[in-house]
Amino acid sequence: MARTCVFCGGTPLTKEHVLPRWLRTALDPAMERARYIRFASSSIHVHEAPLMNEQVRVVCAPCNNGWMNDLEESVRHFLPALIRGTAAQLDHVRQVRLATWSLKTMLMYQHTHGREAQSLIPAMDYAAFFADRRPSRFMLGRVAFMNYPSDDSVPLADTLCQGYGSAEGAAWISTLKIGCLVTQIVRVADFDEQWKIQPFESFPSLRHVWPAADPIDWPLPLAIPHEHMSDLALPDTLDVRLMSR
Ligand SMILES: [Zn+2]
Repeated sequence: MARTCVFCGGTPLTKEHVLPRWLRTALDPAMERARYIRFASSSIHVHEAPLMNEQVRVVCAPCNNGWMNDLEESVRHFLPALIRGTAAQLDHVRQVRLATWSLKTMLMYQHTHGREAQSLIPAMDYAAFFADRRPSRFMLGRVAFMNYPSDDSVPLADTLCQGYGSAEGAAWISTLKIGCLVTQIVRVADFDEQWKIQPFESFPSLRHVWPAADPIDWPLPLAIPHEHMSDLALPDTLDVRLMSR
């Protein structure tokens, strides 16, 4: 059976760069290393690849050249500053764009791994994203500022994802780090209409972007040491509470 677009079911499939080529200008050309890691429930998938050349073949041309390209363009004027750690303001609109772009990029990264790692983020989350072009109400988006050494001892781009699925359904945390920028989407198992996710406590190094919150001055006043990437990305439990709407 021919494979079809992970978003709309269309064919034929086209190649999509996981990170847009224009990002090259935001990145230090001396730092080439990238590491993509994915943790599934029973096994660990580690994948290293050149930073800018990673491509996947899972979306059709209308998606790739249409709304996905629009999404790339919507972050192009402020994403490089976030990655470099230079001054930028994240207002409500930019927070939504950043959370949306981050989720799209995470969904593409999942397909850089082997088939058995590709079910961590389930098909229904791709379908919901295609329908709404936004993270869902079952998701929280956060942004963190992370230090990294100026040599190549730490990957410039690093993604981690861990599942917390249960009988109630899909739950996962995906974390994407590029340079100083860390974005995180926390996906909670589905819940009824009368509930919403209780916001996380904000820290000087960690703020909400989905649902969008107060404007953020970038860089954040505190950086998370890069040694804490795993603690941030792979907590033992999905510690999220619900509150009534
Ligand atoms: Zn499509």
